[in-house]
Amino acid sequence: MTDALTLHSPTALLDALCTCINEDIHPLSARAVAAGSKLFGAAILRKSDLSVVYADTNQERGSPLWHGETWTLKQFFEIPADQRPPVTDCLFLTTHEPCSLCLSAILWSGFDNFIYMYTYEETHYVFECHGDLDIFNDVFNVREAETARQASLDGTLAQIRPQYKLRSSRLVALSFAELLAAITDKKTQSEYLTKVEQIKRSYGRLSEAYRRNMGVE
Ligand SMILES: [Zn+2]
Repeated sequence: MTDALTLHSPTALLDALCTCINEDIHPLSARAVAAGSKLFGAAILRKSDLSVVYADTNQERGSPLWHGETWTLKQFFEIPADQRPPVTDCLFLTTHEPCSLCLSAILWSGFDNFIYMYTYEETHYVFECHGDLDIFNDVFNVREAETARQASLDGTLAQIRPQYKLRSSRLVALSFAELLAAITDKKTQSEYLTKVEQIKRSYGRLSEAYRRNMGVE
């Protein structure tokens, strides 16, 4: 992952990732949402030139295991081995910070990274999809001990998130917010903030469509 970060500036990464979401992931998600699946999507890009190898979206209507990430991984490994790049040469992009299932699936597949646009907190409180944090809290007890103490101290919701290692020898997890923060020129940073906000607005509309289709108020 560090090689990709060294090779590409935050703006080059954001350009490629935003284009991938807009052109590859979002159209697939819009169709899947209309058919009754959720709006989460993912893609695999080459670290070297940031070209898209494969992009796909949640297929939960077919199986509850096919989240955007797990479905994308399954489809990627359906490509004959001699026709796809090794995972160590690839970036894993996910629209939403991966749930416990998907985070493990990304690592078990051999990726050393993922980059996400929405955080767990946004998934929970903005999209009102509670599975990710509920599983972490109910099964992995992340609300216990230090996190609960902190949350009660400063009254923040952010403290209930799982404390997985964002930087380790196994994994580099990077958010769009971090990429945006790494842009040093303020004018450029503001342009990219607007660019990401535009994508987020289009996901807001998708979320409304999903809720309408599912009969959720
Ligand atoms: Zn998932």
